Amino acid sequence: MLIAYLDHQRQDQLQWLVSAGGSSSDEAILCALGVEEAGDVALSARDFGGVVSLWPARFLRPSTADDVARALLLAARSAGLTVAARGNGHCVGGQAMAAGGIVLDMRALGPPMSLAPGGAAVDVPGGALWSEVLEWTVRNHRMAPPSWTDYLGLTVGGTLSNGGVSGQCFRYGPQVNNVVEMDVVTTDGDRRLCSASINSDLFFAVLGGLGQFGVITRARLALLPAPKMVRWRRVVYADLETFASDAEWLVTQPDASAFNYVEGFAFLNDASDPASGWNSVPILPGSAFDPADFLAAAAASVLYCLELALYYDDRVADRVDEREEELLRRLRYVRAAEFSADVGYVAFLSRVAPVEAEARARGTWATPHPWLNVFISASNIVDFDRNVFKRVLLGGIGGPMLVYPLRRSRWDERMSVALPESEVFYLVALLRFIAPGGGEAAAATAAAEQNKEILRHCRTKGYDFKVYIPRYDSEGDWAAHFGRDWGRFVERKQRYDPMAILAPGQNIFSRTRPLALAASQPPEIISALPAIVDDSNDRSIELPKTLRPPTKMSLPTMICNEGWIRLR
Ligand code: FAD
Repeated sequence: MLIAYLDHQRQDQLQWLVSAGGSSSDEAILCALGVEEAGDVALSARDFGGVVSLWPARFLRPSTADDVARALLLAARSAGLTVAARGNGHCVGGQAMAAGGIVLDMRALGPPMSLAPGGAAVDVPGGALWSEVLEWTVRNHRMAPPSWTDYLGLTVGGTLSNGGVSGQCFRYGPQVNNVVEMDVVTTDGDRRLCSASINSDLFFAVLGGLGQFGVITRARLALLPAPKMVRWRRVVYADLETFASDAEWLVTQPDASAFNYVEGFAFLNDASDPASGWNSVPILPGSAFDPADFLAAAAASVLYCLELALYYDDRVADRVDEREEELLRRLRYVRAAEFSADVGYVAFLSRVAPVEAEARARGTWATPHPWLNVFISASNIVDFDRNVFKRVLLGGIGGPMLVYPLRRSRWDERMSVALPESEVFYLVALLRFIAPGGGEAAAATAAAEQNKEILRHCRTKGYDFKVYIPRYDSEGDWAAHFGRDWGRFVERKQRYDPMAILAPGQNIFSRTRPLALAASQPPEIISALPAIVDDSNDRSIELPKTLRPPTKMSLPTMICNEGWIRLR
């Protein structure tokens, strides 16, 4: 349904846009969108990466899905405006930016969260933070989504556009696999309900779709009863082979006897490195310990930590000690090197919040973050360890080096996310933090070079791998990234956003460059356009090729009218 143009009471007030294209058309359209708040525009040109800065023409705060639809429809009528939904700007390569276009700040979108009929799911706006979802669902209903990210200051729409992984993923699937249905606004202004059975192609396109196919305005997320407590444990390994063998055993156990959460990280056998060394291992802050108590002086330069969690309500009734003991007995970690704590469920899921506070205080939250996330097949992880952890990264990265296994069968293949071929693959996340103090730009460049070197290594060695939260500059690289699914990705783009309006910061498609659509079908969007055509108006425009119907269409003239668009 075309939302914006069915408001008959207002339609009489509208005059329609005259100009056929070029900058005057864009200007008129931007005028119709309202006036941005100066401070906000600067925010929209920044992201957590701190490396890319692209200034939009407008930064708008939609509060309803109709507002989103209006912005998209107006952009579709312009000569060249693009639109990026911005979650919380926590990507690291400008993916939520739109140079000279429109950025939509999704954080103000409503309506507020509500329990879905039946009580086993929650409806959340696309701009809700995961921390808000946790707080609302646990406080009001003692329920919670089963799958999380480590850090909760990310939006639902943002992580569903990528994947959303953490230690629960091996068991419950990624966040994209725990969505019941969504409302998605496409560039024809339609607000489409989609699920695995309704508009399923759009549903799966959007999940992991890098913001390319529509704007998620509402997601219905599956819920499970929230446990009260978590047994949280970290155990240390002296070599990757043993670590990996145990980790893979743990993530392939039957659900009934498995941990609820399995993660891991590599760290330097160095007690003086606060970010990548021994100090990152103890769970409780301020734990005094001496690494020499755990390992011989001759131990390797890189060690590994497995992080495990078991949920429970009542320690005795839920046999948490016995269940944990049964699993731990099989593992071959360094027996003396273990740390554990019993913490509340919300505190466990919020465990990165104190890390954020500390990084903000140290100034490393604001410096550049040239992060690299890669999914690497289990068959390549030992070689990766030998060549990357133990050679390239021996100096540390100023932050965590996550490495833990996931299972491909927990991801629905119809989704857009690109994954390695093998059933078990590792997330390797190099979460680099750069010290403030003048040399940030040079350090960021050096780190980015190191990331490139690592990816070159993966390619040269022929690893079965995919970059997670990718960013490439050439169509060839994107085609290689999606592999055999590239054709499907391109077809979906043509179907839902044929003018390449959405998420230009991903750098996959461009409004000024025709889509690489040689093999694709004509866009279906044309069928939606007559609703915005006023045949009584004799001024005609040339539509972009991808939207061109058989004959020329007349488009209505619109004047700037602040009251018309409800964008704050
Ligand atoms: P943004 O960065 O603002 O947007 C990301 C992309 O999604 C953009 O292309 C944007 O246009 C699009 N988008 C945003 N909202 C919507 C919407 N409503 N509809 C359609 N498209 C939309 N990832 C994990 O999987 N697991 C983790 O544990 C994890 N931890 C992280 C910790 C930190 C400190 C940081 C900075 C990132 C982490 N990430 C993690 C990465 C995170 O998933 C991505 O950064 C992701 O981009 C989410 O951030 P965001 O909500 O701010 O979205």
